[in-house]
Amino acid sequence: MKFSDYKISDEIKQQLDALGFRRPTDIQFKAIGHILDGEDVMAIAQTGTGKTAAFAIPTIHLIQSKKTKYTKGTVRCLVMVPTRELAKQIAGVYREIGKYTGVKVFGLFGGVEQDQQIATLNNGVDVVVATPGRMFDLISQGELDLSKVDYLILDEADLMLDLGFAKDISDVMRFLPQRRQTLFFSATISKKIKSLAYNVVRNAIRIQISAHNPVAKNITHSVMNVEMDDKRFFLENMIKEYPEKKVIVFARTKVRVSRIVEAMKRVGIESEAMHGGIEQRDRFEILDRFRASENKVLITTDVAARGIDISSVEYVVNYDLPEDPENYVHRCGRTGRGKNKGQAISFCSEDEKPLLEEIEKYTGEDIEQFDIPLSEYREILNETEDGSHNWQRLLDKDNEESDTQEEW
Ligand code: AMP
Repeated sequence: MKFSDYKISDEIKQQLDALGFRRPTDIQFKAIGHILDGEDVMAIAQTGTGKTAAFAIPTIHLIQSKKTKYTKGTVRCLVMVPTRELAKQIAGVYREIGKYTGVKVFGLFGGVEQDQQIATLNNGVDVVVATPGRMFDLISQGELDLSKVDYLILDEADLMLDLGFAKDISDVMRFLPQRRQTLFFSATISKKIKSLAYNVVRNAIRIQISAHNPVAKNITHSVMNVEMDDKRFFLENMIKEYPEKKVIVFARTKVRVSRIVEAMKRVGIESEAMHGGIEQRDRFEILDRFRASENKVLITTDVAARGIDISSVEYVVNYDLPEDPENYVHRCGRTGRGKNKGQAISFCSEDEKPLLEEIEKYTGEDIEQFDIPLSEYREILNETEDGSHNWQRLLDKDNEESDTQEEW
């Protein structure tokens, strides 16, 4: 994806081009779309990943596309940062990216005269990038009004905590409207950071960009909350949306693998099963067909999680989450081989949440969650070509118990 493909203003695109930003970095790719959609974001990302532009680009666009009249001291976007240097630097990035947008940016920090700062605020500002001290001074003097803030960004939140700004963060909430979009960035994750984040964000999209992430960097992986009985409709939907892509689908047991193959067949999707119950020679043939793209959908147990090196697998679907967290990493590693990019998506039912937690503990990161709006969820169920699904659902429920002990 290039910046020219994004739904952002031409003025921003033109400037990104001038800055030599052609393609989004990882964090930008994962965050910008969600921010443009109005969602809260909680991201773990270090400096150097392009995280400033990840929040600056979409917030500048949103402000530009809904310009309001300036009122004295009122701002629409507050970026809270722990140090003056950061305030200066981030305000600079905003100014640079927003150069042709008319969005006015102001770096607000202590150590400089207040009068000039008050004059600037009086003239009208859209974005304030502030350190807590001077910000509170000006609020208490009635010179800075945060009651119309649409976008709150907390950057370097872990450093804020280290520097003792935890109370300032909770205090500033009193001056902000309840209805707002909040973007939370931290370089590291800890219990404290999580609880701080959850106090300020709502249903946030979680993103982690980590150098130590054992899942290879060129693989984007995320989780979708899907109920057990609905998983095949989501798989159907996905495969039909990307019919040309090569997909490996991992399920928990042999029985489930066979059942998914049948379910796909009912809706016109050709796939092949692979598991430990199939003769080795046949397995080689199945893999050869998959390698040659004669079959594009391979449905398998963890028997195929390791060792398979097929360079062109574009998607891994964890239809069921693996019991062993290590297998999560192996499964994801089936895509994004070499320099190729890959995508792994996991369907997580309510019952599988503990498995997800285990995986996150193992990989040391919170996996990005796709929260599907209810209307979209229903649409996917309605769109299935599987006319049998109502009664089939009951049958599946009955069978569910009987196959849980099956091995792969
Ligand atoms: P940051 O992590 O925000 O401190 O950004 C690190 C560096 O990456 C800065 O020098 C940015 O100018 C640069 N940068 C950010 N996004 C991009 C991009 N999409 N393409 C090229 N350089 C970028």
